Amino acid sequence: MIHCDGLVKIYKIADLEVVALQGLDLQVESGELMAIIGNSGSGKSTLLNMLGGLDRPSAGQLTVDGKNLLTMSEKDVVRYKRETVGFVWQNNGRNLIPYLTALENVELPMLLQGKRKRERALELLEAVGLSHRRNNKLNQLSGGEQQRAAIAIALANHPKLLLADEPTGSVDTKMANQILDLFRQLNREMGLTVVIVTHDPMLAKKVDRVVAIRDGKTSSEMLRRKSYEQELIHSEEGVEELEGESHVEYAVLDQAGRLQIPTNYLESIGADRSNKVQVILEDGKIVLLPPK
Ligand code: ADP
Ligand code: MG
Repeated sequence: MIHCDGLVKIYKIADLEVVALQGLDLQVESGELMAIIGNSGSGKSTLLNMLGGLDRPSAGQLTVDGKNLLTMSEKDVVRYKRETVGFVWQNNGRNLIPYLTALENVELPMLLQGKRKRERALELLEAVGLSHRRNNKLNQLSGGEQQRAAIAIALANHPKLLLADEPTGSVDTKMANQILDLFRQLNREMGLTVVIVTHDPMLAKKVDRVVAIRDGKTSSEMLRRKSYEQELIHSEEGVEELEGESHVEYAVLDQAGRLQIPTNYLESIGADRSNKVQVILEDGKIVLLPPK
């Protein structure tokens, strides 16, 4: 679904240049439910905006669903945003119109495409568990309900890819879990590819794959040992899962053979104060040593 190679994004403000993405690599399979994690300012929203066609990359390669987002015409970008991707933000005010009902809000994107499909809108409200609130105005709904309405709206035009930028950033833990369960359900039942950006490591633990971004580059990947479902069954049987053991962590090796080593690892061998390390091949292992 997503092929991202050496993606670069440079913002220019007056004479200043901010390199928000510096050669980022990312592959996402169709039907995946994955999370992108990273500190504030690491480039998560920048990446999501590129994926969503809201902004253009400066260099590198980016194809989504076979479409080249660097060379696409403006007209095709408009269609891409309308037909291929759905977007959910932390602040759902961007997606919603307060004086319309939940149902009208979901129908709106379809109207803009010249099709009004009441049935589809009702189906989506059902899917996000909001049927009973369909005739309520958006400003009468709670934060969590509004976020679920925003998800229904994002799905109105049958996107293949759902992008969510900090979707649980402004709701409590219980609601965050419900929203995540909803993403998982939509992923399973509709085969929707879901990419969730978060800075919450607890939330990231509940998906199968987590990609970490540091300084605008993919630095590591965590893959789940067991499926989340399996893990739930285990915990119901009383088998306690140890913290941090649910995922295996891999450092990302780029095409040029470069590797980003976590700072705390480098610190622990005292290699953080130099720009060189010794690299030795030993017994089938690659060993890094601080400079002498
Ligand atoms: P995150 O979502 O991980 O917090 P962002 O993608 O928002 O990170 O930002 C990455 C970097 O790019 C930051 O240094 C930020 O200040 C800068 N940046 C983001 N958007 C813009 C913009 N529109 N203009 C200039 N700089 C920007
Ligand atoms: Mg952000």
